[in-house]
Amino acid sequence: MLTQAPRGTKDVLPADSFRWQYLEAKMRSAAALAGYREVRTPVFEHTELFLRGVGDTTDIVQKEMYTFKDKGDRSVTLKPEGTAGAVRCFLEHNLYADALPCKMYYLNAPIFRYENPQSGRLREHHQFGLECFGAKEATADAELILLAYNLLKDLGIRNLSVEINSIGCRNCRPEYHARLKEFLGGRIGRMCESCRERFDRNPLRVIDCKEKACQELTKDAPSMLDLLCDECRAHFEQLKQCLAAAGIPFRVNSRIVRGLDYYTKTVFELVTETKDGKLTVCGGGRYDNLVAQIGEQDIPAVGFGMGLERVLMLLEAEGIEISKPLQYDIFVTYMGEHRLQAFDLVRRLRQDGIRADLDHCGRSLKAQFKYANKTGAPLTAVIGDEEAANGTVKIKSMATGEETTVPVDEACGRVRTMI
Ligand code: ATP
Ligand code: MG
Repeated sequence: MLTQAPRGTKDVLPADSFRWQYLEAKMRSAAALAGYREVRTPVFEHTELFLRGVGDTTDIVQKEMYTFKDKGDRSVTLKPEGTAGAVRCFLEHNLYADALPCKMYYLNAPIFRYENPQSGRLREHHQFGLECFGAKEATADAELILLAYNLLKDLGIRNLSVEINSIGCRNCRPEYHARLKEFLGGRIGRMCESCRERFDRNPLRVIDCKEKACQELTKDAPSMLDLLCDECRAHFEQLKQCLAAAGIPFRVNSRIVRGLDYYTKTVFELVTETKDGKLTVCGGGRYDNLVAQIGEQDIPAVGFGMGLERVLMLLEAEGIEISKPLQYDIFVTYMGEHRLQAFDLVRRLRQDGIRADLDHCGRSLKAQFKYANKTGAPLTAVIGDEEAANGTVKIKSMATGEETTVPVDEACGRVRTMI
């Protein structure tokens, strides 16, 4: 127990964090290019926010939330998704009072869902998410899809498909719900247990079921696309025009409905094919009613969430290398009596912006060499009796074996020319 992380969580080890940092840098610059700025919201929120925001008929709220009472007897929940918190923040700080749209992104936001842990499915995962408040035009939806697509492409991910759908709005969806219920009604007996519950509370959810049998059952279910009102239809057409103009190979898939209640009009997923089947890396859509549902302002919005673990999984699966940064430019070895000189040299090197270190573990000179080699430092420095006596240091290139002895005062300059 003590030395085992909770099920469904993952450590990022010091030797691997460069992969995350690489990804994060790419994500930040993709967001910045389109004017999105970072927002940071708390890891937990009042439970009520998610009941109201995510929707209490969803699997997330029904089964997956980490909810508990704090010591003040308030019910709080660890974020099961990023949008509700962003909306709360947008409203609390009156960000709608500024010129809209308000564009924000969150990076590395930890998301908690009590799911059945398996490949690509964790209990704590991390998302890169973007939200654009106050933009009703389909250009905003298209810009987000384009941003996600270009980001993943740029990372080297192939086999990407963009699947889009429209799930309508308050005006046209009720009719669809009714038709869907009629269709599903005769099939209840053959649905999985969860879908039987979903049937009553929110029939749209049945389309989203991951069980093979349920997917088969709903193969010929009515499509929302046939029932869109004029406004939703025009919006969807505009979205398709923008994507086509941008050369994005998208596919209209009426089975994309998304697992959260707040979506209206556009929903989309970026999907890749892996050896274990389809994997969704990114999902999002428009949520024109959510802001009004949580606050008083009626403000349309659109956004997406992308799982960092899943992106990293794909990079690995597709054999895309991320170059590993050096831990050290130079490792300073020394004979025991000269530790102060070694310590001081390392201090000077670091002050000069050179990544440097010395032995802190009482190793022999020979063991220090071995260790230096293991760190991958391209240079080593030696402070032996002779160097200490002369105020010099010997610098050795690990690649060529070439050695040069310089006065300590010139060490930084020389190291610079060698790296
Ligand atoms: P799925 O259909 O795979 O369950 P979802 O629709 O529940 O995904 P979203 O709520 O849209 O996922 O979250 C956005 C993204 O976050 C997903 O596309 C995925 O990359 C990632 N994600 C979601 N749930 C998990 C999880 N349990 N573990 C790891 N990544 C996840
Ligand atoms: Mg899910």
